[in-house]
Amino acid sequence: MRLIFLGAPGAGKGTMASAVSAAEGIAHISTGDLFRKHLTDKTELGILAEGYMSAGKLVPDDVTVGMVRVRLQEEDAKAGFIFDGFPRTLAQAEALDAMLAELDLKLDAVIDLAVPETELFRRITTRRVCRQCGQIYNVETMPSKVAGICDLCGGELMQRADDNAETLRARLDVYYDQTEPLIEYYRKQGLLQSFDNMNKEGSDVDQIVDLVQKSKRV
Ligand code: ADP
Ligand code: ZN
Repeated sequence: MRLIFLGAPGAGKGTMASAVSAAEGIAHISTGDLFRKHLTDKTELGILAEGYMSAGKLVPDDVTVGMVRVRLQEEDAKAGFIFDGFPRTLAQAEALDAMLAELDLKLDAVIDLAVPETELFRRITTRRVCRQCGQIYNVETMPSKVAGICDLCGGELMQRADDNAETLRARLDVYYDQTEPLIEYYRKQGLLQSFDNMNKEGSDVDQIVDLVQKSKRV
């Protein structure tokens, strides 16, 4: 399966994508996670991305597309993949279409996770992430068993530097301006599926796995 998860920051793309990736045995490709990994490793790319990320702005398209091109060649992506946080601009979507055409691959579906804005603010400000493995928690709706400690790896939970109300406002403005037009782009390609992700984060995993399986091309 080859999927894209669209949605505003806090819509639950990361949570849903990791659940679907585990259920389907396909690669979870999160450009946000890739940038954060580069930043932790202090690579040139990571240092470049940091300024954009902390301001809630997008990393330039050529940098992002180049990183995705490399990631897509990795072994685990041969079984299929879910893009989470990519593409985020029309130029990225067009670059992806060209990349897939070159590899003779087609997308199965683009799933748009819809969540009202007030809920996005609530989710983002209560979100926590494992410093070590990246697992996502929420102090209100999906707490870890022991406060501050990851259930999976024992790593320390932290709040992302850009998960505050002020940066979220900037990220949302960028989303409406640059990313929302992709809904129409993929609707025209006949790939769009909408998913109401308003229930508690994590509780709709079975439903989304179901939706994903139904969108499989034959
Ligand atoms: P969220 O969807 O919760 O806002 P992500 O983890 O997907 O967060 O992204 C965090 C930041 O990483 C973005 O605000 C942006 O600076 C950068 N980023 C991630 N994906 C992309 C992309 N496809 N294009 C440009 N910048 C990106
Ligand atoms: Zn962990």
